[in-house]
Amino acid sequence: MDELFEKIIAGTIPSEKVHEDEHTYAFLDINPTAPGHTLVVPKQKSTNIFDIPESDWLAVMKTVRMLAPYIKEAMRADGLNIVMNNEPAGHQVVMHAHVHIIPRFEGDGLKPWRGRPYEEGEAQRVAEKIRSLL
Ligand code: AMP
Repeated sequence: MDELFEKIIAGTIPSEKVHEDEHTYAFLDINPTAPGHTLVVPKQKSTNIFDIPESDWLAVMKTVRMLAPYIKEAMRADGLNIVMNNEPAGHQVVMHAHVHIIPRFEGDGLKPWRGRPYEEGEAQRVAEKIRSLL
């Protein structure tokens, strides 16, 4: 599974490519949440957000930003989700960094993430934990 996207980029495993440039490759997800569900990957392998070089991340974001309106228009979608799964706990299955562009439709039934409000003082403690590491 680790080399799957490298083989797709190299063309040894087929894909439905929608765009390619010097640093990124974009192709249809084989098991789409909705038609037009696209994956954008850096050509140079990194595992996920934790090791991707900033230049590759910026290249992926540029491609996502470029493709988003065209995917929305082509699929006549009402909206898009742009998602990156990181690590198995974050539902990452393919260990080659990738960003999902998922067309969304009014009433498509996909549920948003659940949330819960912070308890008294919790948000400050959580933010401080993050800030203290920066
Ligand atoms: P993730 O859970 O973020 O690692 O997502 C991996 C995605 O890769 C899934 O949505 C799969 O459907 C998709 N995928 C797996 N194999 C292929 C393939 N050969 N071609 C296109 N997409 C694939």
